[in-house]
Amino acid sequence: MSEQHQFQAEVGRLLDIVANALYTDREIFLRELVSNAADALDRLRYAAIADPALLENDPTLKISIAFDTGARTVTVSDNGIGMTKDELAKNLGTIAHSGTRELLHQIDGKKDLNLIGQFGVGFYSAFMVADKVTVLSRKAGAEETWQWESDGKGAYTLAEHIKDARGTEITLHIKDDASEFLLEDRLKQVVKKYSDHIGFPIEVSGATVNEGSALWMRPKSDITKAQYKEFYHHVSGALQMDEPWLTLHWKAEGAFEYTSLLFIPEMKPFDLYDPRRQHGVKLYVKRVFITDGLDGLLPPFLRFLKGVVDSEDLPLNISREMLQNSPMVAKMNSAITKKVLDALQEKAEKHPGEFYQFWSLFGPVVKEGLYDAHAHRLQLCKVARFHSTYNKHEDKDNVESLVSLDEYVGRMKEGQEHIYYLSASDLQTAKNSPQLEAFKAKGVEVLFMIDTIDEFWIPMQNDYLGKKLKSITRGEADLSKVKGGDKKETKEEQEKSAADAAPLIETLKEILKGEVKDVTLSERLVDSPVCLVAPESDVDIHMQRILKKSADYDKRHQHILEINAGHPVIKKMEGLSANDELLKDTAFLLLDQAKILEGEPLKNPTEFVRRMSQAIEKGLLAG
Ligand code: ADP
Ligand code: MG
Repeated sequence: MSEQHQFQAEVGRLLDIVANALYTDREIFLRELVSNAADALDRLRYAAIADPALLENDPTLKISIAFDTGARTVTVSDNGIGMTKDELAKNLGTIAHSGTRELLHQIDGKKDLNLIGQFGVGFYSAFMVADKVTVLSRKAGAEETWQWESDGKGAYTLAEHIKDARGTEITLHIKDDASEFLLEDRLKQVVKKYSDHIGFPIEVSGATVNEGSALWMRPKSDITKAQYKEFYHHVSGALQMDEPWLTLHWKAEGAFEYTSLLFIPEMKPFDLYDPRRQHGVKLYVKRVFITDGLDGLLPPFLRFLKGVVDSEDLPLNISREMLQNSPMVAKMNSAITKKVLDALQEKAEKHPGEFYQFWSLFGPVVKEGLYDAHAHRLQLCKVARFHSTYNKHEDKDNVESLVSLDEYVGRMKEGQEHIYYLSASDLQTAKNSPQLEAFKAKGVEVLFMIDTIDEFWIPMQNDYLGKKLKSITRGEADLSKVKGGDKKETKEEQEKSAADAAPLIETLKEILKGEVKDVTLSERLVDSPVCLVAPESDVDIHMQRILKKSADYDKRHQHILEINAGHPVIKKMEGLSANDELLKDTAFLLLDQAKILEGEPLKNPTEFVRRMSQAIEKGLLAG
């Protein structure tokens, strides 16, 4: 008796794409099946630590590939962990990976071949070369065998079957146009090309084709770039076009021994900010796979890493919970983190162009370490890069526009005590901020903090090499100690401007009551009439905006409006009487303009438009 089941809708769509897409690399189906078989062997070996009986009388773990030209079939078998009936239905009838699901939604509708080529479709790639796939599987330790079968067109069947040993046997009924895969040499060539790194023997027609030792245990000099890449795809289940941006392979010796082979991807994973996301580094103990994504093995800010860590010293029979709290794992964590940061620092210094590529994808994640990884704080400060007003190639968003804290400190002006920064929602808003004017006039560099995480780590760090990190949109801007680039006005002229503006400030406070916390004279403006800042004791204005998104944020956190006493508009306003409608309209116009520059919504857009139209009309009629 066989039962008929429908595929999950998303699988149906995926199969549709697989069947219709013009793959240039159809041969990768074999890589996917061999990779799954190797995982199944890994899992059996681990399970057998606790339960050696699982190995029964079949202890030699291997993968076999056979073909039958007459029947037009290729069969990939393993004596690994196997699948129960429920597992067959779940693993081969649904899509568990959120990344694949996400990608499917993106390519939905538009048959974008480029995008399709980007992701490995795993088991389902079998349908690129087969019009029917039969999977026989017996779970290790179980009695019964189940058969899963499908033509990849919406449904599959499940039936009880007979098989004399544990493991999985996948038979592909080869399509007419895929006969090349019925040739022994072709099969061997594909295995050699993609699966040489697999640590289990892979036999084609009885002869072992691959090297058969774990790639990470081989000497670096024996490993080609192509082999590293293939291993990367195997270990990460990576998108087909994704290459490792960085490959780190080293053996640690001494008090505790381990070998690491780690990769930084060149593409951003879809779930990078999903709180449930685990890192992609597998833990092995003496070549035995133990677990994926172990929490204590890497800090969360390195969760984009993929690869393998193989320890010589951890006990094999140890639970995941015990591993998580093991002091040995904690030591590996800190040594691995240091090694990765060393490599990043070197890249940043020696190959800034390549580093820029990395930083624009993963920079915000690495900066999370500045918030919660105190042990690595100094090194993280050396790796971190920022946009800044120091830009050799004006307005080009490229590698040249990124600076390090060390570079910043090296360029500080005589008399400058702080590291100045400006927070904004994006680079353009930051560059256009009026608060920058006095800093630009004085030639004082300002860093741009444009990632949400910046608002969180900056208060934690406070300083770098004794230099305080100071926001230029909060509190007072006192640049008087910085030498050079002083305002054109003399001290007396400035004092006079300030005295003249005093009555206007009082009037504005009255007019804008409830709109701003205060109105004060500005030290940071040159060309603009007004700007908004946060009080010294409060959170920064950009942070206020982030907090406001949550409904319970207290409305009392209001901005301060700073006015530029030297500006012609302000001087003109000084001449108007306190109850003149024109003064009131201008005050609101200036406030609204400042808000727009901050990227903040206007309280009353209709009023803004009315005032603006009036002002334009007046300007035109006067001209
Ligand atoms: P992935 O390998 O990325 O999980 P696949 O589509 O390649 O995705 O495989 C889906 C799932 O089917 C695997 O995660 C595994 O649980 C199961 N599976 C596939 N092939 C085998 C096999 N040979 N032995 C045991 N389980 C397998
Ligand atoms: Mg797979």
